[in-house]
Amino acid sequence: MANYEYIHEIKKFGRENKIPILLDDTLEYITEILKKIKPKRILEIGTAIGYSAICFSQYLAEDGRIDTIEIESLRVQEALENIEKVEVTDKIRVLEGDALEILPYLHEEYDVVFIDAAKGKYIEFFEQALRLCKTGGYIIADNVLYKGMVQSDYNKHKQRTAVNKLRNFIDIVLENKDLKSELIDIGDGLTVSKKL
Ligand code: SAH
Ligand code: MG
Repeated sequence: MANYEYIHEIKKFGRENKIPILLDDTLEYITEILKKIKPKRILEIGTAIGYSAICFSQYLAEDGRIDTIEIESLRVQEALENIEKVEVTDKIRVLEGDALEILPYLHEEYDVVFIDAAKGKYIEFFEQALRLCKTGGYIIADNVLYKGMVQSDYNKHKQRTAVNKLRNFIDIVLENKDLKSELIDIGDGLTVSKKL
């Protein structure tokens, strides 16, 4: 049996260490979707310390599984420890490496693909998500409004490339006719797309 009481501790560690784990209102929004569809398979791009994957694992169908990809080995270690602590090792598989290298090797179909990693790569992640998401499934991307910068006309040079790429990403998502998509101004900005 899983030990979900550790979630609070994991969240506290994430917030204290400035790890960009899911914001509460964003988590709530995604949770409503998961409760409705009871996914069998979830793919996550960007594990960090495993917080979101552990949260999502509560809403899987029986025998449901999450694959989650993380590029930084320290984060992978922390995620694995947290997954053990919560006793959800049978529900969550962490894949270590650059998602852009790992995704082409995945061939399962997922009910939900959650994109929550390097903002400059969202378009490439999305192409793979489209391939891996089932018809009727969801592709969800977090942080698409990037602290309000995506919808404002001023941004610092440092963030300009990511901001432009995210604007481009949002256009691609909203214009795709194979999807029914929404841009939601919640947390740091979320796109939710249903594959038709
Ligand atoms: N989903 C997590 C937060 C993820 S933070 C949660 O809400 O709890 C984003 C993570 O993506 C970071 O840990 C970062 O190391 C990872 N990341 C960034 N680029 C990546 C890539 N190309 N492939 C895999 N992981 C990546
Ligand atoms: Mg995020």
